[in-house]
Amino acid sequence: MSSQYIIPETMKAAVVDSSDTPLEIRNVPVPRPESLKPGECLVKLDCTGVCHTDLHAAKGDWPVPAKTPLIGGHEGVGIVVAIGAHTQDSPVKLGDRVGIKWLADSCLDCEQCRKGLEQSCPKGKYSGFNIDGTFSQYVLSYVRHVTPIPENFDSAEAASILCAGVTVYRAIKYSNANIGDWICLPGAGGGLGHLAVQYAVAMGLRVLAVDTGVQKKELVKKLGAEAWVDFKETKDLVADIKAVTGGQGPHVAVVTAATSTAYEQAIDYLRPGGTLMVVGLPARASLNADIFWTVTKSINIIGSYVGNRQDAREALDIAARGKVKCFFEYKPLSALKETYEGLEKGAVVGRIVLDMKN
Ligand SMILES: [Zn+2]
Ligand SMILES: [Zn+2]
Repeated sequence: MSSQYIIPETMKAAVVDSSDTPLEIRNVPVPRPESLKPGECLVKLDCTGVCHTDLHAAKGDWPVPAKTPLIGGHEGVGIVVAIGAHTQDSPVKLGDRVGIKWLADSCLDCEQCRKGLEQSCPKGKYSGFNIDGTFSQYVLSYVRHVTPIPENFDSAEAASILCAGVTVYRAIKYSNANIGDWICLPGAGGGLGHLAVQYAVAMGLRVLAVDTGVQKKELVKKLGAEAWVDFKETKDLVADIKAVTGGQGPHVAVVTAATSTAYEQAIDYLRPGGTLMVVGLPARASLNADIFWTVTKSINIIGSYVGNRQDAREALDIAARGKVKCFFEYKPLSALKETYEGLEKGAVVGRIVLDMKN
């Protein structure tokens, strides 16, 4: 054990005892520095973002259920206060400010890990899912997977980039869009969408934002979207999207929606050779791609799952240089319950970041 920090016996945490009991904020033991294994570290959290995935984990409505009892959360930023004894060549040291993301650890040795697809490692440990996450004042994590936070980058800003930002950044990066290409972003005014608009603009793409309402229209235009289609006002969404892009349709669509309709529409409006990036993670839904049009238009359909360590660093770096700003509200941990209720109703604008310092 190596730590010069005073670590209390207990901490505040939001605990879900089972998928049908509500979460409870209570005191739980802090993992002891002397019991950390090599490669493990203890992080004292400043703040944590709240993601829609946390709600799925708490409700247990995905094909793979989360562990119980569970401390959720996977967008944490804090300080390394202990590192397991006998840890060799740690890339982080005591006092470093780091981010905890969805993928907390992977073996780094299987085929997926070697190919940079560590998110799909069969031994993956996921924060707030199969291990405890960041809705607590301290969290056990792994030195090889925590993400260094760029200097002078606000912790609350960084929190939302660690999941929402990385997810959309990677999807745009792997879509192989080129400078000047059109990118269609359904849900552009939402939590993931408003970050996607900014990353796309920073990467030199022409953004076609799809969402509804004057407020969201103004937001995405301010962030640099070049065109706007209101999905509630349009009589023919596919025709309007094609018209905006000179009749051909966009080169890329990054779909973060939780319904399958948005995916089917994308096959219709994408230009031949276009790419559909599948990002949203609904509880249960199928992708009903029309095979005839998928083949004859040579459409690429690519699933994109959060990001690897390199994607995380790139997404943070771009945001830290002021290219991407997250719109968030800062609240105490006690606001988590009402945040879940808001997420369930779709009533949360931007992201919620929880203060974990007291
Ligand atoms: Zn997330
Ligand atoms: Zn692996």
